[in-house]
Amino acid sequence: MYLKKHALIENSFGIKNRCELLAKPISIEEVIECLRIAKNKNLRINIFGKGTNTLICKDEIDGLIISINNNLSNYSIQDNIMTFQAGMRLSEVSKIALKNSLSGLEFAEGIPGTIGGAVFGNAGAFGETIGKLVQNVKIIDIDKLIVKEKKDLKFSHRKSNIEPNKEIIIEAKLKLDKKDKKDIQEKINLFKERRKETQPIEKSAGCIFKNNQAGKIIDELGLKGTKVGNAEVSNKHANFIINKGNATGYDVLELIEIIKNKAKKEKNIDLDLEINLLK
Ligand SMILES: Cc1cc2nc3c(=O)[nH]c(=O)nc-3n(C[C@H](O)[C@H](O)[C@H](O)COP(=O)(O)OP(=O)(O)OC[C@H]3O[C@@H](n4cnc5c(N)ncnc54)[C@H](O)[C@@H]3O)c2cc1C
Repeated sequence: MYLKKHALIENSFGIKNRCELLAKPISIEEVIECLRIAKNKNLRINIFGKGTNTLICKDEIDGLIISINNNLSNYSIQDNIMTFQAGMRLSEVSKIALKNSLSGLEFAEGIPGTIGGAVFGNAGAFGETIGKLVQNVKIIDIDKLIVKEKKDLKFSHRKSNIEPNKEIIIEAKLKLDKKDKKDIQEKINLFKERRKETQPIEKSAGCIFKNNQAGKIIDELGLKGTKVGNAEVSNKHANFIINKGNATGYDVLELIEIIKNKAKKEKNIDLDLEINLLK
């Protein structure tokens, strides 16, 4: 198994950090082996997909990072049921659905993470969410593989009831609808266009806060363009923090605190983080 000490990991801000130990398991057995290693060495565990919803704010992260990415990215299709390993990229998932005339994942085109990260955080856009499509999820919990069925899964706004850094999503089964390829493609194009119009192209982690209208709130606070180091509140979409160069996790974190404090002081609003902090 790929297991490396002091390896570098990178998130979608383009910020690189070292971690004590990095594992890239390629099978369920190897994931279980990772958990065994962590237990024996008394290491805390962090699960890392593509890091597109994660801010790393420590120079070296303690413990074991289990990376579920290209190393676990197979899929299968039966009629309108698609089964994806957790490391599959969402944009790829959306393309496969289109190729097979399956509708429901049009919103996922343009979301840069993995399906595991998406299910964990109930990713969504344009009023649609992944949680609505999930039929069941295969999870490794401590040392065994369990299947959580739809009835056991709870999804809310950018949240699921999968236990963070304990339950490792290995596979998700999604139910889609058979539709005309042309209609699916049109919907994808429309969503793509909307993203282009409203979202910055610079490196970011997508929306920073979960609150409805967070972008509008931050804009009204006059914070667009506010900078800490090279981390900046995007002028295009105020709920995005972008990396203008060599921003660090600490810069982004400080900027987040500035936004949160101002929202509380001036509007009495508690902004709720959408991104995950790895520290
Ligand atoms: C430009 C841009 C646009 C974006 N647009 C959207 C959008 O429209 N809608 C949206 O919802 N999000 C959006 N995002 C955020 C992000 O892409 C999604 O949340 C994505 O699903 C996160 O996947 P990831 O693999 O990168 O997760 P990571 O950032 O690696 O991890 C996120 C969380 O999921 C957990 N996790 C990851 N994989 C697993 C697994 N296999 N098992 C258990 N837990 C796991 C991690 O421990 C962590 O807590 C955007 C991000 C960017 C950069």
